[in-house]
Amino acid sequence: MTEYRAPTREMVFTLQHVAGFSEMVKACGYEEASEDVVRAILEEAARFSTTVIAPTNAVGDRQGVKLDQNGVVKTPEGFREAYQQYADSGWASLQFNPEFEGQGLPFSLAIPVQEMWHAANMAWGLCPLLSQGAVEALSENASDELKRKLLPKMVSGHWTGTMNLTEPQSGSDLSGIRTQAVRDGDIYRIKGQKIFITWGEHDLAENIVHLVLARLPDAPAGVKGISLFAVPKFIPDDHGNIGTRNDCRAVSLEHKLGIHASPTCVMSYGDNDGAVGYLVGEENRGLACMFTMMNNARLTVGLQGVSISERAYQQALAYTRERTQGTAPGDTGLSAIIRHPDVRRMLMTMKALTEAARALAYKGCVAVDFAKGKHLPDDLRARQQRRADLLTPLVKGWCTEIAQEVTSLAIQCHGGMGFVEETGIAQHYRDARILPIYEGTNGIQALDLIGRKTIRDNGMAVRELLADMQASADTAREQSLLTQERQSRFDQAVAFVEDATRIVLEHRADEAFTGSVAFNYLMLSSTVTAAWLMLESASKANGTKSNDDKFAAQKLITTNFFFDHILPRCSGYLTALRSGDEAVMALSETDL
Ligand SMILES: Cc1cc2nc3c(=O)[nH]c(=O)nc-3n(C[C@H](O)[C@H](O)[C@H](O)COP(=O)(O)OP(=O)(O)OC[C@H]3O[C@@H](n4cnc5c(N)ncnc54)[C@H](O)[C@@H]3O)c2cc1C
Repeated sequence: MTEYRAPTREMVFTLQHVAGFSEMVKACGYEEASEDVVRAILEEAARFSTTVIAPTNAVGDRQGVKLDQNGVVKTPEGFREAYQQYADSGWASLQFNPEFEGQGLPFSLAIPVQEMWHAANMAWGLCPLLSQGAVEALSENASDELKRKLLPKMVSGHWTGTMNLTEPQSGSDLSGIRTQAVRDGDIYRIKGQKIFITWGEHDLAENIVHLVLARLPDAPAGVKGISLFAVPKFIPDDHGNIGTRNDCRAVSLEHKLGIHASPTCVMSYGDNDGAVGYLVGEENRGLACMFTMMNNARLTVGLQGVSISERAYQQALAYTRERTQGTAPGDTGLSAIIRHPDVRRMLMTMKALTEAARALAYKGCVAVDFAKGKHLPDDLRARQQRRADLLTPLVKGWCTEIAQEVTSLAIQCHGGMGFVEETGIAQHYRDARILPIYEGTNGIQALDLIGRKTIRDNGMAVRELLADMQASADTAREQSLLTQERQSRFDQAVAFVEDATRIVLEHRADEAFTGSVAFNYLMLSSTVTAAWLMLESASKANGTKSNDDKFAAQKLITTNFFFDHILPRCSGYLTALRSGDEAVMALSETDL
C-alpha cells in the first residue's frame, strides 16, 4: 500500500492554464484568488489530505460502518477526528457566501481541494460532497429565514447535509416518488421511506440536514408534483442551535461492493407524528430546486473519478518500480516491471486518461463560476451557462467511465497481487464501481446530453464547443506542436462530433434511435473534448516552457500518447452511432 501524494504542480497548472481559472478570476472579480493564494491553499490541502485523511482509507474499508440498536451509526476509527479537524480548519466553507460564514472564494478553487479529499479517502469525502451540494441548493432556493437558521452551521461543516431522492419504486425515474408532505401551519409533516441515502446517519457532526423530495396530498402527478423539504435530524431554534430530535431515523445500512466506510442508509421519516420539514423554494417546484444540488453533485462525482484514478495510478506506478520480473528490452539481468513496454502502455494509459479527466472536470467547474459572474455581459454569461450545462454530463459520465478502466489497469499492473486485498489496490477498483451508477447512472447522463443539452438548443452549445476546439487546433498548428498525422487525427475527431451531432439532430423525433446512440455520443464527445484539453495543456505548457522545460516535455509526451492510443477510439464510437438503433433493438426480449 502506498501513500497518497497530491499532484499539486499538475493541479495548479491545469486549473490556472487549462481550465481558464485565471481568466475567470479576472472577469468575475475574484481578486483575492491570486496564483499565490491558490498555490498556498492547495499545498495546505495536500498536507491535510495526506496526513489526516489518507490514513483512514484502508482502515475504513476493513472496519466499515455499523448501525447500533439505538439507531446510531458508528464510523470507522479516525473518521470523526479527521472530520472535526476538517470543519474546525475551515475547509468546508471555502466557496460559500461570507454572509453565512463562507470565505467567498470561487467554487472551482474548491475542486482541486476536494479532489485530494476523495483521493485520500473516497468514502469519507462523500460526506463533504453531499453537504456542499445541500448548501448550494439551500443558498439558491431557500427563504432568507431558513437560510439564517441552517446555513451558518452547514457552511462551516459543523452540520452535514444529505440528498434524499431515491425510493424503492423510484430510482432513475423520480416521477414515482411517494413520500408524503402535509402542511401543518408554517411547517410540513413528512412521512415515507428513502433508500440508498449516503451519510444519512453518522457520528461525525452534531446535526444532519436532509433535503427530501416529497409530494403534497393535492400535488399534480409526476415530476411536476414534487416539492423539496429540509428535514433536520435535530430541529434548530431561531438562533440555529440544535433542539429536539426530529421524527426521522436510519433503519438499516446496505452492505456494499465498495465505499464500505460510507453509510448508505434506508431512512424512515415520520414513524410517529411526521418529521418536521421546511419547504425549500415553492410547492411543486422541488425537482428544479433539487437540480441545483444534483448538478453540483454530478460534477463532484465526476471529480471522484479523477481522484480514484490518480490514487490507483500512483499505487501502480510505485508497485511497478519495485517489482522485478524478466529482462526488459535493452536491460541485462532482472528488470523492474515498469521497464517492460506493455506495463508502460498500461501506466501511460492511466496517466493520460487521468490528466485528461482532471482537465475536463476543472473546465466544467470553472464554467459554473464564469456563468455566475455578476459583472459579465448577459450574452457571455449565457454562453458560459450553456458550456457548464453541456460539460456536466461529460464530466459525470466520462470521468467515471475512465475510472473503471484506470482502476482495472492498476490491478493488472500488480499481476496476482492486484487480486489480493492486502495490497489495497482492489479497494480502489471496488470503490470506483459506484461512480457510473449514483447521481444519475451514466445511461441517464447520456440521455441528458443528447436530449436537454444537444437537441433542445438545436446543437448550439456543441457548435460553440467545436469552434473553441478548432481555434486551439489552429494555435497548435502555428506552434508546430504536433506531428502532421496527430494534428489531422484531431481535426478528424472534431469532424466526427460535428457529424454525430448532425445525425442526432436529424433523428431527434426518433426516441429508439437517440436512446440507442446516446452512450456512444457521450463517449465520442467526451473523448474529443478531453483530447482538446490535452492539446491545450501541451500548448500552454509549451508557452511557459522557459519556466519549466521538463514539465512542458512531459505534457507533450502524454498528449501524444492520448492522440495515438485514446483518440482513435472515436472512430469506433462514431461507427456504432451511425448504425443507429437497428442492431440494438433487433432482438426481441424473449431472445435476450
Ligand atoms: C452506494 C449508493 C449511494 C447512493 N446515494 C444516494 C443518495 O445519497 N441519495 C439518493 O437519493 N440516492 C442515492 N443512491 C441511489 C442512486 O442514485 C440510484 O441507485 C441510481 O440513480 C439508479 O437508480 P436505481 O438504482 O433505481 O436503478 P434503475 O433506475 O432501476 O436503473 C437500472 C438500469 O436501468 C437503466 N435505466 C433506467 N431508466 C432508464 C431510462 N429511462 N433510459 C435508459 N436507461 C434507463 C439505468 O441506467 C440502469 O443501468 C445511491 C445508490 C448507491 C448504490
